[in-house]
Amino acid sequence: MSKEKHTRLIKEKARELGFFFCGISKADFLEEEAPRLEKWLNNQRHGKMNYMENHFDKRLDPRLLVDGAKSVVSLLLNYYPSEKQAENTYKISKYAYGQDYHHIIKDKLKEFFQYLQDEIGEVGGRVFVDSAPVMDKAWAKKSGLGWIGKNSNLINTKAGSFFFIAELILDLELQEDGPIKDFCGTCTRCIDACPTEAIVAPYVVDGSKCISYLTIELKDEILPSEFKGKMDDWMFGCDVCQDVCPWNRFSKPHNTKAFDPHENLLKMNKADWEDLTEEVYRELFKKSAVKRTKFNGVQRNVSFLKSS
Ligand code: SF4
Ligand code: SF4
Repeated sequence: MSKEKHTRLIKEKARELGFFFCGISKADFLEEEAPRLEKWLNNQRHGKMNYMENHFDKRLDPRLLVDGAKSVVSLLLNYYPSEKQAENTYKISKYAYGQDYHHIIKDKLKEFFQYLQDEIGEVGGRVFVDSAPVMDKAWAKKSGLGWIGKNSNLINTKAGSFFFIAELILDLELQEDGPIKDFCGTCTRCIDACPTEAIVAPYVVDGSKCISYLTIELKDEILPSEFKGKMDDWMFGCDVCQDVCPWNRFSKPHNTKAFDPHENLLKMNKADWEDLTEEVYRELFKKSAVKRTKFNGVQRNVSFLKSS
């Protein structure tokens, strides 16, 4: 089978599995990203996420992650919900409403990989979703799935930015897609709206100031007092810089049943969160990514917001 046929096969299967965009790049050193990543780490923009310092070389070169890698296939899966949380409550980032995306996407990728083995024969490679040192946004950008906006999210001209990114790194030569241009223009809405002023310059997010980091990644017992009154009621993650982005007017509701929230989640008001028991927490977030913060983490975040 020719590389054109392999490429067509992959793009058709991606669509069939529910990924709404699929783009391909040659597996190569990420030259443009290397100095940017180095500077970001040197400036301590990763806060206490020390794991970001590991595997620097592997992050920049997929050939060090996968033997004989020739292509990176980037995939986007929509998570934009049809319904949102009630007004005036403690907020959860939309990506965490339903079941943990890691499991849902991993299953799809495994099926994808098996399909390639069945159709093409011996294909070597690995599948990734947020689980190894792969610079997913950089690859998606290189493959023409969007541009990286001033809020550092990947933005697609037809669908905005509420989607997960996943990759297949394969030892298969495929037809490459090219990058698209940056459509942020003179807009600064995300920078102006960020509650903690974490977007310190266009295209530079100081991870250590970002509410997503503070509420999910930071394991300290108490959140830093400098953020009191600035968290805009976000208790797990933050969507502000995406919600204000004009390109997200193109977001359409996902059709992945597993991403639908527990029926009671959207109804929870502030008092319900403040009185949350471990039992209700377990029921609401049975298979959710919110489990990453554990019950104590949710309690810590809620009491910080309550006392702000
Ligand atoms: S996620 Fe929230 S805190 Fe983080 S950069 Fe965006 S608006 Fe700022
Ligand atoms: S809000 Fe404006 S500047 Fe920010 S990412 Fe969207 S288009 Fe770019």
